This record gives sequence, C-alpha cells and structure tokens, in this order.
Amino acid sequence: MSRPSLPDAEVALAVFTRDLRVRDNPVLTGALDGAGAVVPCFVFDDAMGATAHAAPNRAGFLVESLAALDRALRDRGAALVVRRGDWVVEVLRLAHACGARTVHVARDVSGYAQRRLGRLRAEAARAGVAVRTHESLTVVPPGELRAGGGGPYLVFTPYFRRWSARPWRPVLPAPRRVPMPPGVAPGRLPPVPGGRAPGAVPGGEDEGLARLRAWNRAHLADYGGSGHDDLAGDRTSRVSPYLHLGCLSPLEVATRLRDRPGGAPFVRQLCWRDFYAQLLAARPEVARDDVRAGAPRWRDDDAAFAAWCAGRTGYPLVDAGMRQLLAEGWMHNRARMVVASFLTKDLMIDWRRGAAHFMAHLLDGDVASNQLNWQWVAGTGTDTNPHRVYNPTVQARRFDPGGAYVRRYVDELAGVAGDVHDPPPAVRAATGYPDPIVDHHEAIERWRAARRR
Ligand SMILES: Cc1cc2nc3c(=O)[nH]c(=O)nc-3n(C[C@H](O)[C@H](O)[C@H](O)COP(=O)(O)OP(=O)(O)OC[C@H]3O[C@@H](n4cnc5c(N)ncnc54)[C@H](O)[C@@H]3O)c2cc1C
Repeated sequence: MSRPSLPDAEVALAVFTRDLRVRDNPVLTGALDGAGAVVPCFVFDDAMGATAHAAPNRAGFLVESLAALDRALRDRGAALVVRRGDWVVEVLRLAHACGARTVHVARDVSGYAQRRLGRLRAEAARAGVAVRTHESLTVVPPGELRAGGGGPYLVFTPYFRRWSARPWRPVLPAPRRVPMPPGVAPGRLPPVPGGRAPGAVPGGEDEGLARLRAWNRAHLADYGGSGHDDLAGDRTSRVSPYLHLGCLSPLEVATRLRDRPGGAPFVRQLCWRDFYAQLLAARPEVARDDVRAGAPRWRDDDAAFAAWCAGRTGYPLVDAGMRQLLAEGWMHNRARMVVASFLTKDLMIDWRRGAAHFMAHLLDGDVASNQLNWQWVAGTGTDTNPHRVYNPTVQARRFDPGGAYVRRYVDELAGVAGDVHDPPPAVRAATGYPDPIVDHHEAIERWRAARRR
C-alpha cells in the first residue's frame, strides 16, 4: 500500500471493535478530535475464529453490522478499512501504512480483550505509536464504581443505587464528515455466512435504531408492568444483539429513554448489563470459575443434555424456550431463566455446558451477560438467594397463561386445546410430544441434598 498523500494532515486510526456505529461513538469522535484525517478500521481477529466469530448467528450479524457501518462511513466521505489476521499485528501494520501516530480503540472486559489491548499498548509503544482508549461498552465505565473493599460489586442493588446517582457523560453526535486520507485500500468484508437461524434478525445501526424506536412507541410505557415477563406478547425490546456489538450505544439508549413513562424499569435492566461487565472486567476468570462456592457435584448426562438442547425435555415451557433459541438465535429472558434453572437444578448439569450451548446460538451471546446470568441462575453467582428454584410448569402458567408461547414454538402442541403446560399422557402419545425426562419435585430434592453436602 502506498502512503496516503494528504499533505501534513495528522492521521489517526479509529479501530472499531464492539462499537459498530457512528452515533455516540467515543472512538470515532476521539480520533476526529485529535487528527485531520481518520482511518476507520475493523480487524477480523484470527484468534477469535474458534469462538465468537465462529457462531454462525453472531458471525452473520457481525458482517451485516460492518456493512452498515461501511455505508454510514461512506455517506460521510470515508470507508471502513477491513483487515484480517493477528489483531495487534494488523492494527499496527495499518497504522504504519497510513502514517497514523495514534490509535483510538474502546476498552473491553473479557480476559482475552484485556490481554489483547495490553499487547497492543506494549507493541505500539515500541513502534512509537500512541494508544488512546475510550469507554463505549456500557453506560457507566467498568471499574468506575467500586465496592467497599475497592473491588467490583458482587451484589446488584447497591451497585444500582450508585450507578443511578452517577452523572452520565453527554451523548456524542454522529460526525457529519469523516475525512480519510487517500490511498488506503479498504479491503473486503467476507460474505454473510450460511447456517444461521431462520428467524435471526439482521445486524446494523439503522436496524437497531428502527427496532428501538418502534418498540419504544409500542411497548416502553408498559415495560415495567406486565411487558417484561409476557412470554407470548413478546414485548421486550429485543435490542440485546445491537447492544452486544455496539450498533446501539447503551449510554444513548439509557439517556433517551430514562425519563419517558416506563423508562426507569427499562434502564434498570441496562444496569444489569453494566453490573456484569464491571464484575467480569475485574475478575475475568469468572467467565469459567464459579463466583461463589456451593455448586453441587454436576452430573454427566449426555442424553439429558441432548434432550435439553433439542427442546425435548417433556416440559413445554423449557422446550419452547430451547426451540426459540434454535429458530431465532434469541430467547425471551423469562424463558432463559427457566431453561437455565432446569438444566442446572433439575438435571444437575454444569452451567458451563448450558452457557456454551447458548453462546453457540445467541445473537446477543456476550461473555459477561451470558456467563454471569448462568451463574446467577445456577446459584454459583451473584444471586443473593442461591437456593432459588423455578418450577417450569408454575412459571408457564404464570407467564404464558394462555399457552400461546408454547404453541408458537412446540409444533406438537400447536393444535392442542386447553392447558398445554402439563399435557396428559394421552395427548403426549397422540401428538408425539415426549414424556418428562425427570420428575421436577424428585429432581429438586436430589439437587437440594447434593447442595447440602
Ligand atoms: C441464562 C441467561 C443467559 C443470558 N445470556 C445473555 C447474553 O448472552 N447476552 C445478553 O445480552 N443477555 C443475556 N441474558 C440477559 C437477558 O436475558 C437478555 O439481555 C434479554 O433477554 C435480551 O432481550 P431484550 O433486549 O428484549 O431485553 P429487554 O428486556 O428489552 O432489556 C433491555 C436490555 O437490558 C439488558 N438486560 C436485560 N436483562 C438483563 C440481564 N438479566 N442481564 C444483563 N443484561 C440485561 C440487555 O442489554 C437488554 O437488551 C441472559 C439471561 C439468562 C437468564
């Protein structure tokens, strides 16, 4: 690549990671503030090939989100420069090629992301390139609020209290122009991969904004009432995939919605996302290790695990949730709690196996929110009541009283009239719907005994 010929303009590199947007983007704004020309780029990290980018739902969402970002940058006179390889090597190679003396990038919270940034800093320093980090992942930056002993918060409510009292920075406008030096080859996005869930939503900043606006008009006001837990009504925002890749800015979403009717309970949910991010940032090992002791001895039951993954446990709400995951790459929060409880408490299967299955399918699959929600439900995490158990039939009658959620996802039960939450043996036999793989009450007795040991 030839050096760009923009005379005397100081060039900065804006490295996009999980902030794939032009609105309220501190990395892009920071790069523009300090330099006359900016090279916006994304590097497909070879080291992530086996994990995040490899899950087809998220890989497709990523490519679509990058294509949308490229369009938004082109509208502003630039283009997204795409590279692939060792992330640190490629970022510095690009900085060198375009004469950038500063690299702007957002901080992230997983152990891998933190190590990667550390390597970038060290190698950039050797190359005489400055690295400026920005906060864009959460509403309140991880690490800014510390518990009594100086560590991360392990309990949500006191964190939420501090989080609510802290002023937020102003929302940054999208830049009108992004001056880019000439002579930088943009590179090419890979094709959108196949193998995605048929009902997976498309990625991109515009998609996320359109979804948020439509949901806000229709459902925000009742979110804190019945909306949040209405399985059949499907009345939550479904913006989690857009927040995960930063197509939407959590700070902008929170700022715009907090004072509207229904805004407060919605923004409280965004605080859960921040809460888990600050915990993972401080203790990255909890992506694998239990946050607290007290786990039972997990069982290796491959047949039961396979039935759970396929949505064939014989518990209609559990099966509806698991089949929604396969059909859409997304699952309602209430169903996530019930299926996770069923795996870890009724089946006594290690939460890590469930979390890995979720990560293989979820569009919003996020190390902090996924692993730590799993731990919360499994009783090894931050729930102050680790003995909590969800009875899948009771939950179904309460949150899917008409059975519409179950009928939508469990084909065998779609035509069954009346109560679908505990079908009698004759209905199961006639429809081909499986018998329960465990008795809930016996299973929970076993789990309680195992926990006491
Ligand atoms: C076992 C389990 C695994 C989960 N895995 C993930 C995951 O990988 N990625 C993920 O984003 N969420 C995860 N969640 C949290 C929650 O289920 C989803 O964020 C939510 O269902 C997304 O739908 P929504 O956007 O319609 O949420 P809404 O109800 O509209 O909430 C708005 C936003 O608040 C945040 N939020 C809401 N609830 C939670 C929560 N409990 N924890 C953290 N953030 C929350 C999300 O960013 C969400 O988009 C998990 C929950 C459980 C119980």
